[in-house]
Amino acid sequence: MTEPRGVALLGATGSIGASTLTVMGRHPDRFRVRSLAAGRKAAELDALAARWDPDYVVLAAPSDSGFAPAWEGEWKYGEEGLVAAAADPAVPIVVNALVGFVGLSSTLAALGAGKKLALANKESLVAGGELVLEALKAGGGELIPVDSEHSAILQCLGGRPTSEIHRITLTASGGPFREWPAERFDSIRPEDALAHPTWSMGHKISVDSATLANKALEVIEAHLLFGLDYDLIDVVVHPASIVHSLVEFRDGSTVSQLGHPTMEVPILYALSAPERLENTFRSFDPAETGRLEFERLRHEDFPMFDIGISAGREGGTSPAVYNAANEIAVHAFLEGRITFPGIPALVERVLGEMGTSPVESLEHLMSVDGEARARARAAVGTPAAAGGETSD
Ligand code: MG
Repeated sequence: MTEPRGVALLGATGSIGASTLTVMGRHPDRFRVRSLAAGRKAAELDALAARWDPDYVVLAAPSDSGFAPAWEGEWKYGEEGLVAAAADPAVPIVVNALVGFVGLSSTLAALGAGKKLALANKESLVAGGELVLEALKAGGGELIPVDSEHSAILQCLGGRPTSEIHRITLTASGGPFREWPAERFDSIRPEDALAHPTWSMGHKISVDSATLANKALEVIEAHLLFGLDYDLIDVVVHPASIVHSLVEFRDGSTVSQLGHPTMEVPILYALSAPERLENTFRSFDPAETGRLEFERLRHEDFPMFDIGISAGREGGTSPAVYNAANEIAVHAFLEGRITFPGIPALVERVLGEMGTSPVESLEHLMSVDGEARARARAAVGTPAAAGGETSD
């Protein structure tokens, strides 16, 4: 009998954080909560600490100076606290479920320290690009996607080399506006965009799913994770979110991973891979599901997809600029400062203003990210002090 493995859970107060704790709670013999980290939700973090008994917690961006925690364990603060939790010698596994570019330093710290990193924070991989891959190589750890599509591809590959892939196809639910005529997009309210038909998720990713920015981020993520040329990555709309993605091998065989839309399965797989542990999730019954439907993406009506793919193909700093401008645009949309079609307009404008250059270092990338945010905020009239990150 081996000791349970320590886990650092970054982004504990969000939707992925909650599912991770549920999954870990079913396997106390395998996993132990070493640390819990959150952005600014101090009260929620306090309650989780009382429930899960970590060795310490990290509050990355404390906002209420008068907050008095009820949990009496050790509290760490700020970005340094996050990075320390990610590189903690006592954890073999780090789950990064932070939202946005803010997760990059933790991703780099975990990989640099040779951890197994279960990555739900796709923005850090997309924006960090080669820097993240270099940290993975240098640290000798593992990078396992928590994103359902990428988990599916990893499972479909089953250890076969990517040279045997003819192409991969990521499925997309199409989001809440899949069937809306584009003429109505000006009238879309934040609450419409947050009502996702199949997945229950945080605010940032819900809006990204509605604009299809999420799928562009996922194509870039797949390109980096699996080392595949963009020409080998397709996307198909599959509203029921049952087929989680497909791999077509060069011999003409197409392999897919299916199941109910729940993040518990990819989370558990990321924690246990390549082993498969018991899960209490309800069985998948194909006859109950009935028909599986697929359709083409509406590229013209959802320009955030093509804008993101162009940024990915351009490489260098472009994915980071796309990501940064999108984070500000999503925030501005949720605040009612811009319309839904204003999101791609803003992102395209910032990308055009900034151009692209090769990524030199983390510092360089952070300054590019900062400039993209500043330009996007100036364009929508968001005060610089208002942050601009969504607070999942
Ligand atoms: Mg996904």
